[in-house]
Amino acid sequence: MKIYLDGKLVDRADATISVFDHGLLYGDGIFEGIRIYGGNIFRLDEHLERLEYSAKALLLKMPWSRKEIADATIETCRANNLQDGYIRLVVTRGVGDLGLSPWLCPKPSIFIIADKIALYPAEHYTKGLEIVTVATRRMNPAALPPAVKSLNYLNNILAKIEARQAGALEAIMLNDQGYVAECTGDNIFIVHKGEIITPAASQGALKGITRDAIFDIAKEIGVPIREANMTRYDVWCADEVFLTGTGAEVIPVVKLDGREIGDGKPGAVFAKVRESFRRRVLTEGTRI
Ligand code: PMP
Repeated sequence: MKIYLDGKLVDRADATISVFDHGLLYGDGIFEGIRIYGGNIFRLDEHLERLEYSAKALLLKMPWSRKEIADATIETCRANNLQDGYIRLVVTRGVGDLGLSPWLCPKPSIFIIADKIALYPAEHYTKGLEIVTVATRRMNPAALPPAVKSLNYLNNILAKIEARQAGALEAIMLNDQGYVAECTGDNIFIVHKGEIITPAASQGALKGITRDAIFDIAKEIGVPIREANMTRYDVWCADEVFLTGTGAEVIPVVKLDGREIGDGKPGAVFAKVRESFRRRVLTEGTRI
């Protein structure tokens, strides 16, 4: 496997980062998870735009243009002959001293891994996930905006551990006002009385690239879609629930907190969404 690291493709064993890198010491860095389908990198430009917004939010100055990062991403896929898989693009603050100060890190690092990912066992894509709500709240935007895709994922990791302790593969995280924010690595959508509804990003969700695609898909399949605050009650009493994410793709949820969603089976709207999604990922992309 070849890894892109600071301008070069190197063997996996040589793809090493300093222990003084603040990405490691403090989670000071940003990343993107991107998929490639049949040689098309899905919505690459949107991912790189989000990366730039994350960098801006952290005052992390990236010395590379969007085009240079896109070319590096394509080069990494080609070098690994990756036609279908998952790309992890990471930018760290770089090497500094043992203090927090990011201004003492003169040069950010970038690395790109082109590999595979399987977030949930395959059977759940047809039979659906049974999930729970956990006690760990999604971080308050005034502390660290959840829209920033930073290397600090401890909030989500704590929620994921709680889900596992409860015997579930995924968890809903509420925001500090008790409204549904998102899952540990996915956005959430409900279908209720013929409408698709999802929490606004301002409620503590990442602005998912897959989430964006669902808005286009809803238009295509003729189902109204909107953002709204939602509580656990709204999810319990929804007709359908599904999750979206680059890693997860689109996956149905059939139970939340012991309550069956709808008739306890993946629904008709989800089936249409999945069909459109599968078609779009093969056509909406940057060819490598
Ligand atoms: N929420 C969180 C917390 C995430 O980490 C992700 C990405 N895995 C998502 C939502 C989904 O975003 P995207 O569709 O851009 O992958």
